[in-house]
Amino acid sequence: MKGIVFPGSKKLEILNFPDPTPGPGEVVLEIKASGMCGSDLKFYRAEGGASSLGLGDLDGPIIAGHEPCGIVVGVGEGVPKNVAKEGMRVMQHHYRGCGSCEHCSTGWEQLCIDGVKEVFGATGHGAHAKYMKCPARTLVALPDELSFKAGAAISCGTGTAWGALQRLELMGDQTIAIFGQGPVGLSATLLASQMGARVIALDTGEERLQRAKEFGAEVLINPTKTEDVVQAIRDATHGRGAHASLDCSSAPIARSQAVQCVRTWGRACFVGEGDIVTLNVSNDMLRRQVTIIGSWTFSKVGQAKCAEYVADKQISLDSLFTHEWKLDQAKEAYELFDLQNTGKGVIDPS
Ligand SMILES: [Zn+2]
Ligand SMILES: [Zn+2]
Repeated sequence: MKGIVFPGSKKLEILNFPDPTPGPGEVVLEIKASGMCGSDLKFYRAEGGASSLGLGDLDGPIIAGHEPCGIVVGVGEGVPKNVAKEGMRVMQHHYRGCGSCEHCSTGWEQLCIDGVKEVFGATGHGAHAKYMKCPARTLVALPDELSFKAGAAISCGTGTAWGALQRLELMGDQTIAIFGQGPVGLSATLLASQMGARVIALDTGEERLQRAKEFGAEVLINPTKTEDVVQAIRDATHGRGAHASLDCSSAPIARSQAVQCVRTWGRACFVGEGDIVTLNVSNDMLRRQVTIIGSWTFSKVGQAKCAEYVADKQISLDSLFTHEWKLDQAKEAYELFDLQNTGKGVIDPS
C-alpha cells in the first residue's frame, strides 16, 4: 500500500509499505477518512519531521495521519468480539501506552506513566494510507448516524475542542472567547454554541471569521484590525470579560490575551501546541482568581462521549471540511493547508 510521509521542512513523500497484518490483540482498519489536523502542520514543517519535536525516536519513515476512521478488516488473536469484529465502523484513539497503568486503564494512553509508546501518525504508522494497524483496545465505535469524515474530525481536532470545553466546565449561560478559528477553534465555536454558550470568535483571517459566524459565533474580532483586543472582549461582555477563554492559536500574544480577557474567577484554557506565553502573574491571574488550564486532546471515553453528543444534537461536522483529497493529491493538499486560511481537509485513501 501507499502511505504519506513527512520527512520535514515541508516535504511530502508517498512511499510503498507492506500491507499490515494484525498481531495478538491488534486489528487492521481499512481507512475511509483520514483527517488533516493543525498539528500535522507541525510535523510537516519541522526540520527533521516529527522526531525533532521530542515525540520519540523514529525508526524509518512513518505514515502520517492521526485522525483515523474506517472499518475493521482484520482481527488478531485474542481480541474479544465485543471489542472488535470485522465490518465494525470505528474511530481510533491515536495513542498507545502500556495499556495498564492508571492513565492507560482510564482511557488516557497519551499520559502513560511509562511514556507514550506510539502516537499514531507521528511516531507510529497513522491513517494516511489504505490500511492501519493498532491495538484493538484503542478503537472507539463510530455511531451509525455519523459519517467517516465526522469520525475523523472527532479523532483529533473536534475531540480536542470537546475535551477543552469539558475541562472549562462551560455552561450554556456563559460567554467564551475562542482564539484561532482553524479546525480546532472552529469545532469549539460549533460545540460551544450548540451547548448554548455565547461565542466571541477571534482570528486574523476574515475568511475564517466568516466561517466562525456560520458556525454560531455571535461576536467576531480580527486582532489585526483591533487596537485593544482585551478591551474589545470586555466591551462585548458588559465590561466584565468572558467567563471562559480557549486559545487554539498558540500565538504568544493571543495566549496572554486569553488570560487577560476573562472576568474575575474566569477560566482560560490552552490547547494550541508549541511556543510560549508571558504573563504578569499578579495582574493577569492571581489578583483576579483566574484559573489556567492546559488540555491535551481527550481520553478514549471522552472521544466516545463527543461522538454521542454530535450524533444526538445532529451537528453537521461534515461542514467543517472544505477540501477532500485522494491519497495521490497529498502534496497539493498539504501545500494548501499550510496557508492556514482554509477549512479542514480530509484524505480518502481508498
Ligand atoms: Zn500506561
Ligand atoms: Zn491533531
